[in-house]
Amino acid sequence: MAMNELERVERNKRLIRENQFDTLTSLPNMSYFLQLADAGKKLMVADGKRPVMLYFDLKGMKFFNEKYGLKEGDNLLIAFAKVLENHFSVKCCGRMGQDHFAAFGDEEGIEDKLLAIFKDFKHVNDGRTLPVHAGIYPMSFEDVSASTACDRAKLASDKEKGVHVCTYTFYDEELHKRSNRVIYVLNNFEKAIEEKWIRPYYQPIIRSVNGKICDEEALARWIDPTEGIIPPDEFIYVLEDAKLIHLLDLHIVEMALADMNHTKSLGLPVIPVSINISKYDFHLCDIVGEILKRVRFANIDPSLITLEVTESASTLDKDFLQEQIAKVHAAGFKIWMDDFGSGYSSLNMLQSFDFDTIKFDMRFMREFAESKKNHVIMKELVQMITKLDIDTVIEGVETIEQARFLREIGANKMQGYYWGKPNSLENKHLIIKTSIGNPTEEVSESKYYELISKANLIEPDIDEEYQIDPDNFFGPHPMGVIEIVDGQLEILRYNKTYAMFLLNTEFINKEDLGTGKILIKRMPEPRFMEAVDKCFESGKWERLQNSHEGKFLVDVFLKAIGKNELTKAVALEVVIVSISNE
Ligand code: C2E
Ligand code: CA
Ligand code: CA
Repeated sequence: MAMNELERVERNKRLIRENQFDTLTSLPNMSYFLQLADAGKKLMVADGKRPVMLYFDLKGMKFFNEKYGLKEGDNLLIAFAKVLENHFSVKCCGRMGQDHFAAFGDEEGIEDKLLAIFKDFKHVNDGRTLPVHAGIYPMSFEDVSASTACDRAKLASDKEKGVHVCTYTFYDEELHKRSNRVIYVLNNFEKAIEEKWIRPYYQPIIRSVNGKICDEEALARWIDPTEGIIPPDEFIYVLEDAKLIHLLDLHIVEMALADMNHTKSLGLPVIPVSINISKYDFHLCDIVGEILKRVRFANIDPSLITLEVTESASTLDKDFLQEQIAKVHAAGFKIWMDDFGSGYSSLNMLQSFDFDTIKFDMRFMREFAESKKNHVIMKELVQMITKLDIDTVIEGVETIEQARFLREIGANKMQGYYWGKPNSLENKHLIIKTSIGNPTEEVSESKYYELISKANLIEPDIDEEYQIDPDNFFGPHPMGVIEIVDGQLEILRYNKTYAMFLLNTEFINKEDLGTGKILIKRMPEPRFMEAVDKCFESGKWERLQNSHEGKFLVDVFLKAIGKNELTKAVALEVVIVSISNE
């Protein structure tokens, strides 16, 4: 028989006094529910039934509260509790905290029951509701305590993370392995750090203009004596959930610093290393201060340290993140935004935060072959970010076609299996010593190459009075960067139209496109070389008209960029403003 309102209030007061029920929804609270479930399970088994544990998670509660207010949020939780109570009776369900609920029942017909729950919940609160993710743990999988069953059902409910409709998932072998991994990681993390089972592997990052390794990314590997290699995907999130991730990140910092000193002691080149830090690190400790302490202790130049933080950091408080970025710069480190374009408010981030470099999410390369639209988007993004005076790195590069395209659109740096997988320190040293990999850029020439990378091949700042004839070209003007060393000319950068010009005038071969520096096959006419000298003397744009190259007559502007003090090479920017047939 239904209780009247007064009776309900009285019952609630009494039960809450007894500390067994949740104040908001009047369902059993977590500890009481687990007691009920342990007892209830035994009765069901004795009855010949197969019990299951269910876990429910309302998706998007935070967003709902922000949109409709906390009171409405509370109403929704109460409504869900009522739906559960209707389907299971109050002694078989409970609130586990926040927007999480659990229930236990008979395995037979459980899927129909869940569908009915989803349907009922869709119609509560005038349809102002949320999707529910349910996880099912069948006790037949392994007879465990209600508390463990609940953990396992929760794990199942978390499986379809990105799905925004009601859904249910059974706990299975795969999840079981995953949950055992979680337990293993948590139980062994401290030891893994002490014993250095966790260590950085290094993946090269290539500078587009010279094809040399200019940075390397430190990626954590857990090499376990019994479990084998545990990839970061299997422990990073666990450590984040457990609020231990800063300990991992600081350990990787310490090891990377020790590795740099070791490399130095062997007389091998030391280049900037970029370290992944979790956005949670900022709240778990004074992460920038802690890293700086270690960098000073190791006596490493802070300019050799880069921090990569993912785009998802945009969910942190804006002022707070701005302060942290300022601290990174004050310490002398660089900061890169990782995984740009992976789905947070990316463009907003560019405007609000002072990142030195934007690293494009790997999905751009994964979708590279799928559609030309992807190419247009990348080209425009790289150009826009370059105009904001921010560098670009594209990761996940696996083919020469991708590298060629990225060089054409002016991406500063590239990273991916095309140049190499992450390597242990020992392997990295071996590769350097045997010269099988790409050469390493000397830190003393980095400035020079940075200037070259930054040369604006989109809208060159040629004298304003000079009007470029827009009818002469369909696309952008042919533009590029040439390096001269020991009287030899090499092409360091080019856009698509300049590449076409160089091919048509037989300066280069088609196969050369997309590789690092391109040595040209023949010299340009003598007047061109005179103009080169002139532009280095004046430091301004110099114009050369009616220059003869192949079957063309070209009108070209040249401007000096800089000198490489190490190799004595010089670089200049070239812009062709008109071409006609002779
Ligand atoms: P991430 O920072 O985006 O790192 C790039 C991942 O892509 C690395 O995987 C790398 O091995 C892989 N990768 C590189 N080039 C290619 C390619 O051409 N093709 C393909 N398919 N993959 C490529 P990994 O090492 O498994 O790292 C996964 C993620 O784990 C990292 O993604 C990063 O978010 C996180 N992580 C790794 N080490 C650390 C760390 O020390 N601290 C923190 N907080 N996170 C870390
Ligand atoms: Ca990264
Ligand atoms: Ca990334």
